[in-house]
Amino acid sequence: MLDLVLRGATIVEAGGTLRADLGVSSGRVAALLDPETPATARVERRVDGCYLLPGLVDAHVHLREPGLTHKEDFESGTRAAAAGGVTTLLDMPTDEPWTDSVQTYADKQRLAAGRLHVDVGLQIALRRDAYDLHALRALDPVSVEVFTADVPQAYLHDTQASLMRALKLLKPLGILACVSPGDQSLLQSVSKGGVDAFLASRPPLAEATGIAKAILAAAETKTRVHIRQTNSALGVATFGRMRGLADASIETTPQCLLFTADDYARLGADLKASPPMRSAEDRDALLAALREGLIDIVATDHAPHSRIEKKAHYDTFADIPGGMPGVQTLLATMLHFVARGDIDLPALVRMCSANPAQRFGIGNRKGTLSRGRDADILVLDPRLDTRIHHAGQLSRAGYTPFDGMQVPGRLTAVFLRGELVYEDGQLVAPAPTGQIIGASNHGIA
Ligand SMILES: [Zn+2]
Repeated sequence: MLDLVLRGATIVEAGGTLRADLGVSSGRVAALLDPETPATARVERRVDGCYLLPGLVDAHVHLREPGLTHKEDFESGTRAAAAGGVTTLLDMPTDEPWTDSVQTYADKQRLAAGRLHVDVGLQIALRRDAYDLHALRALDPVSVEVFTADVPQAYLHDTQASLMRALKLLKPLGILACVSPGDQSLLQSVSKGGVDAFLASRPPLAEATGIAKAILAAAETKTRVHIRQTNSALGVATFGRMRGLADASIETTPQCLLFTADDYARLGADLKASPPMRSAEDRDALLAALREGLIDIVATDHAPHSRIEKKAHYDTFADIPGGMPGVQTLLATMLHFVARGDIDLPALVRMCSANPAQRFGIGNRKGTLSRGRDADILVLDPRLDTRIHHAGQLSRAGYTPFDGMQVPGRLTAVFLRGELVYEDGQLVAPAPTGQIIGASNHGIA
C-alpha cells in the first residue's frame, strides 16, 4: 500500500508536463498513475488544478553557522527554505571558521544534526596550501569552492597557475569545482565614495576575465567547473563563446535578473552585494541568456546579515556588508519570469531543481519526480497569487529586497521525503527532519 497519493494535478519536470497522480512510499516517489487509477494509500489528497514540482535545489546559500549565527543559523535558514519550496540547499563554506578540513566539515555536520528543516549538502573551500584532498573526498561534499578574488589570502587562487593547480588536484576526485569568477588584478580597494566608487571597483571585465580563466583551466585539466554568480553582459557573452571548450556550467541569481544599479537609490544597503548590480544593458543580456537557455542554474546566493549590520553607518558604500536574503523567495521570483513569458514552468524546474541536482552529484535523489527519487514535492496552485513582503520572511535578515512583488501562483504545500512540512503559510512538521546529504555520484554531468 502507498503511504500517500496526490490526485488531480499536473506534474512538471524539466522535460515537460504530465497529467498523472503521484504515489509515495517510504519517502520516495513510488508511482506515477494514470489519473483516477484506483490505488490504495494511507493518505489521499486532492490537489485538482495544481501543479506538482520537484522540490527546488538552491545551489548557493550561506547559512552562516558556525560563527555568524547572529546573521542566520541552520534552523532559521532552513525554515525559510522550507517555506519557499527549497527542499534541498547547498551550504557555502564561508562561515567562521571556513569549512576547509575534515574537522570543520565534521563540526558542521554535528551542529546541524536535528536542526534542519530541509536537506542540506555541504561545500568545501579549497585552501591555497591544499595538497591532499582524499580525506575531504571521503566526506562527499557537493562541491569544492575555488575563489579567485576578494577572499582572505589563505583561499585566494589569484593566478592562472594556482587555479590550474587547484583544478588538477580536483580532477582525479571527480568533485565539481565551483569558481567565483573575478580577477584580483582588476579590482580596486575603495577607501571613500558611494555607489559609483563601489561599481567602478568591481568592473564587468574582472568577472569576464575570471570566467575565461576558469574555462581555460577546466579545458586544460579536463575538470568539471561551475561558474558562480554571474551578472554582466560581457561575462555572459564570454561564457557563451567559450563554454564548448570545457565541461562548464553557469549560475546567476534572481536579484541580478531583476535589479540594476539604479535600484541602489531605493534599496541602498539592503541591495549591497558582490557582484554589484549592473546596468540595464547587463540585466537585459542576462534575461536574454535566461530565455535562450544559456543559464544552467538560478541560485539565490542567500547571504543574510543582521538588521543592525545593514543599518549601521559606513564611511563608504563599499564597506557595507555584502549580501542579501533570497532562499525563501527563489520560487516566487522565478514565477515572475514565468508570468512574464520569459520562461515556462519546465524551464524553472530545469534551472532551479534538475540542473543543480545533476551538476552537484545528488541527481540520484533530487531534482525530479521520477520513480525512486526522494518525494520532495511542491504543490503550486496557479489560481492563487503570492505577495512577497518583509513580514513573511523567516530568515534572520528580517527583510526581503523583493518586498511588494506580487506573482501569479502560490505554494500551498511542501513535502520533504514524503512528509508534509509546509502547508498554507505554516511550517507543519512536528520536528525538523532535514538531513545532510552527500554527493554520491560524482562525475555525473
Ligand atoms: Zn555567495
